[in-house]
Amino acid sequence: MEPFVTIRTTATGGNEAYLRSCIGAFCVTLNPTLEEINDVKTAVSEAVTNAIVHAYRGGSGEICVTARLSNRTVYIDVTDYGCGISDISKAKQAFFTTSPEDERSGLGFTVMETFMDSLDVRNNADGGVTVSMSKVFKGVDGVSVSAPKGVACARAQ
Ligand code: ATP
Ligand code: MG
Repeated sequence: MEPFVTIRTTATGGNEAYLRSCIGAFCVTLNPTLEEINDVKTAVSEAVTNAIVHAYRGGSGEICVTARLSNRTVYIDVTDYGCGISDISKAKQAFFTTSPEDERSGLGFTVMETFMDSLDVRNNADGGVTVSMSKVFKGVDGVSVSAPKGVACARAQ
């Protein structure tokens, strides 16, 4: 079985910091560079922040984040159960935001797209949004060493 982790928690402020750290730590078995791990953490933070800020329109709700490792790639899903996005193509455009009054810049999806190798945003049939992202870890000098499946190990450096 490929290594995976699923965390389901409340969509409340502060959990973006918790989840970015958890998913970053989970990826360490693939020997990513510091830059690669920071890219993933930033993208997770943006997706989770969107769920916290936009999905429940001030109300309460849940977020579920799943990460899976396969070969040298991490696949991440961030799901909420909120209002959904009425126009996904528009939402993904740089500088588009529905919350300018909160000083949002509308760059979250652009950041995710830039820092990850793939990004897919979809509305779920039962409500809410799933953001799916993946990133290949090339590692130092483009050489990535895969850890044994399911075994957590510290980076040798
Ligand atoms: P920034 O991320 O720069 O603070 P932002 O969150 O408005 O600003 P994006 O992250 O690019 O920018 O998101 C664009 C828009 O997509 C949001 O303004 C919001 O309307 C919508 N959106 C994003 N994620 C969700 C979500 N999970 N549920 C509902 N709407 C969302
Ligand atoms: Mg955002």
